[in-house]
Amino acid sequence: KRILIVFGTRPEAIKMAPLVKEFESQDEYFNVRVCITAQHREMLDQVLSFFEITPHYDLDIMKPNQNLYSLTADIITNLKLVLEDFKPDYVFVHGDTTTTMASSLAGFYSGAQICHVEAGLRTFNMQSPFPEEMNRSVTGVVANIHFAPTTTSKQNLLNENKKEEHVIITGNTVIDALLYSVKKVNSTEFKDIETNELKTIIDSNKKIILVTGHRRENHGQGFIDICKALKQIASENPNCQIIYPVHLNPNVQKPVYKLLGDISNIKLIAPLSYPAFVWLMEKSYLIITDSGGVQEEAPSLGKPVLVMRDTTERPEAVEAGTVLLVGTSVTKIVDATKRLLQDTDAYNNMSRLHNPYGDGKACSKIVNHIKSITG
Ligand code: UDP
Repeated sequence: KRILIVFGTRPEAIKMAPLVKEFESQDEYFNVRVCITAQHREMLDQVLSFFEITPHYDLDIMKPNQNLYSLTADIITNLKLVLEDFKPDYVFVHGDTTTTMASSLAGFYSGAQICHVEAGLRTFNMQSPFPEEMNRSVTGVVANIHFAPTTTSKQNLLNENKKEEHVIITGNTVIDALLYSVKKVNSTEFKDIETNELKTIIDSNKKIILVTGHRRENHGQGFIDICKALKQIASENPNCQIIYPVHLNPNVQKPVYKLLGDISNIKLIAPLSYPAFVWLMEKSYLIITDSGGVQEEAPSLGKPVLVMRDTTERPEAVEAGTVLLVGTSVTKIVDATKRLLQDTDAYNNMSRLHNPYGDGKACSKIVNHIKSITG
């Protein structure tokens, strides 16, 4: 069977890389090709090189001042050529980006079966000015097979009248990626300039608080409040070191460098490559983030997560207790951090919980399912 795997952003690349490897390990059954749209260029290439994946097709669609109209149109028209060249039986897409939605439409037009990985996440807020809920919902309409990470995401799809046999619970492939990466980063052969530099920045006598943030809903007052909270945490807890890889978006860079630029126990650094980031997550005591992927990864490393969002399309982590929603309220962020720094029982309770997002076997479940239906 001919399998085309399409992705475009860093988080998609991280979550699809172990699937590419799993399909490639079974090349007696599958002819696998990888197509990147390169919706994120540099960050995507770093991930591909770490996972040793060379794409067969690179649509390279990013242009200056790219907008959602031209992005969507360019993906569909360029992917048409790939679909005509390779003629896949199955097109795999991931998550909720413009790449996901546009590629699933193009794949649908070609007559291929569409497989959606990380299917069924919903915020139920289509009115949001941001396209993610629409992207994942449209992909859900178009897809033939839905690989849902959890029972909650499966239920969302059943509520949308998907047939039970078309929704497969697999866990999230991000855990597969994480376990592969932790092993590789800690192996003696692994040499990485960025990770080595990071080792010189970290104060190993202090508790490391890792911070990341990029969500558009937090731009403006949200990031100002986040910075105020981090400043207060740093000054009240001199035994901590805050390490903050700052997202490249100017709406994030400006407030963060202005408000946190000159504090001795806060280190603002450039966004990290995935291996360096995995290494740092492992070394951290606590993680404060608005990232979706980090919420899923951190529990597998036993790290409590404070989530700087008011709502989440990942309720499983909140229910399991592996993350705590704190929004961008200064007092909530400061109080929750203080508690986890001072109350060892509260910390241990949170860090020892089972990860609701899976066990690292999502990709073999996906590939086995395709094998079972193709004979
Ligand atoms: N990540 C990374 N370097 C960083 C910050 C995050 O490699 O400096 C990784 C992280 O481990 C996770 C993914 O990027 O797997 C999450 O990406 P992001 O937060 O950009 O997107 P989201 O998950 O919110 O869609």
